[in-house]
Amino acid sequence: MTTHAPHVLVTGSTRGIGAAIVQALHARGARIVGHGRADGPGGVGADLSVPGEADALWVRALERLDGRIDVLVNNAGVFEAVAVDAPDEAWRDGWDRTMQINLQAAADLSRRAVLHWRGRGAPGRLVNVASRAAYRGDSPAHWHYAASKAGMVGMTKSIARGYAAEQILAFAICPGFVMTGMAEDYLASRGGERLLADIPLGRVAEPAEVAAAAAFLALDAPASMTGAVLDINGASYVR
Ligand code: NAD
Repeated sequence: MTTHAPHVLVTGSTRGIGAAIVQALHARGARIVGHGRADGPGGVGADLSVPGEADALWVRALERLDGRIDVLVNNAGVFEAVAVDAPDEAWRDGWDRTMQINLQAAADLSRRAVLHWRGRGAPGRLVNVASRAAYRGDSPAHWHYAASKAGMVGMTKSIARGYAAEQILAFAICPGFVMTGMAEDYLASRGGERLLADIPLGRVAEPAEVAAAAAFLALDAPASMTGAVLDINGASYVR
């Protein structure tokens, strides 16, 4: 890690887990560019459902950070349902959109980051926010979500193995339910009590807990941890 304040790009930082990650990294003195769907006080706008936007985001973030990014946090993601008996077009559209935002955009940004770090001969760290669903699977309406997050874990491990010798480190985080807007909707739609009964800790995680793990991986984790996937799920899925 650099001796200067680390330069960090955090995607999906307008709310929820991403906003908590920005807060945690800010407290550690990082210089951060945030991101949301549109330009705003929180950072650079880029609609990651549009192919190519992730690359444009990287270029703009790099400009804002004076040509150096040390850490990329791929946090932006959607959790959208598509029923198994949906019309064919809606089914494919749902898959395309989720895979584009959750996996392809993260892959495009990771690629830019790896090329940037290799080009500079500099170390770099990648933190991917995946999900418990990568290992446990998800509801019948969320095959695509689980598949996108499992893909993210596989991608993270490939990057870790491929570039460790160049001090390019890659980590993933797999939260279970986290009390953000998205989780609240989910809990309400599924009957909160039943879901909570499945979590030995007795509650869903707080965004700050995920952010603490992200900040650790982004700034502190020993290099030998590269390729690690951290679970944050109150022991609701122990592997
Ligand atoms: P959230 O819905 O509160 O925030 C998602 C962020 O992603 C927002 O900043 C939003 O602007 C951004 N985003 C979504 N679609 C986008 C698009 N098309 N273009 C650009 N940006 C877009 O979600 P959250 O709960 O904070 O989740 C953050 C990450 O954590 C996601 O990857 C999610 O899959 C993962 N996760 C969340 C939970 C949970 O229970 N909340 C559990 C496991 C994993």
